[in-house]
Amino acid sequence: MEIIKTSVIGSYPIEIDNMKFIKNYFNGLENFWDEYISAAVNDMIKAGIDLISDGQTRDPFINIFTRNIKGCRIRDRPEIINKLEYLYPIIFEDIIKIKKYLPKNKGLIGVIAGPYTLSESVVNFYYKNKMELAFDFAEIIKKEIDLIKPYVDLISIDEPFFSNKFPDYGYELIKIITKKLKCLTRLHVCGDVSKIIPDLINLPVDVLSHEFKAKPQLINSYEEYENNKKICLGSVRSDNIEIESVEEIISHIDQASSIFGEKIIQISPDCGQRLLPRDIAFKKLINLVKAGEVINGR
Ligand SMILES: [Zn+2]
Repeated sequence: MEIIKTSVIGSYPIEIDNMKFIKNYFNGLENFWDEYISAAVNDMIKAGIDLISDGQTRDPFINIFTRNIKGCRIRDRPEIINKLEYLYPIIFEDIIKIKKYLPKNKGLIGVIAGPYTLSESVVNFYYKNKMELAFDFAEIIKKEIDLIKPYVDLISIDEPFFSNKFPDYGYELIKIITKKLKCLTRLHVCGDVSKIIPDLINLPVDVLSHEFKAKPQLINSYEEYENNKKICLGSVRSDNIEIESVEEIISHIDQASSIFGEKIIQISPDCGQRLLPRDIAFKKLINLVKAGEVINGR
């Protein structure tokens, strides 16, 4: 049986010291953000997580991806004021830096904001329709993925907006960004995905990731379909400060295994942990790792 890996989805809560932040910013101190990123990465390593992310400490994930794209400007929400163009690398430099100090036995995740979610999250002043906008986002994201792919073990695409409405062109969008990728690809969709499972299991990605802990009924929804996708099982909640015990996590994984069998190759928090207090997020990861050890040790 394949070893189940422990993973995060993306974001991790690191408090920013505002005074220090402002001082570093105005002193023009380069790379002053690195300490926040390494704090997130080190927490994940210390907890024993196998697949590590950059923690997305810089910004909410939509802003991380829109701020470096020509044609976008960040106001209350990102605004599209011109045709989108890929100008600068988005997460590439952070990925390179993390890769340098990440222990060899750890995998690195390239966390990517999905084109549909980006197109639905911005204020559009330029494009005739959101479909055109989404396809331009997809082409730009593909360029970023081509840059980071030699350095990551998993490309994880965040598309929470798929659970609101799966667009007719959803398949084409994902196809653009995963085309010719050799590394493992994962699609994370939180929310209630029960009605779009037939769309999801057809997408050109290897792994599907959902919030199975907050919405355990999704496990049963999947049972109705023939599914060849691997599963990243949300196993601790991201919207709740109660720390799940190791036993509770194990019984959740066992229940899911009775439906998914060996398709479960990763266990993770339900979603990004950004909104949790740091000590709670950390303890949830520790218990996730302990549960994974028990499952893998059987
Ligand atoms: Zn999510």
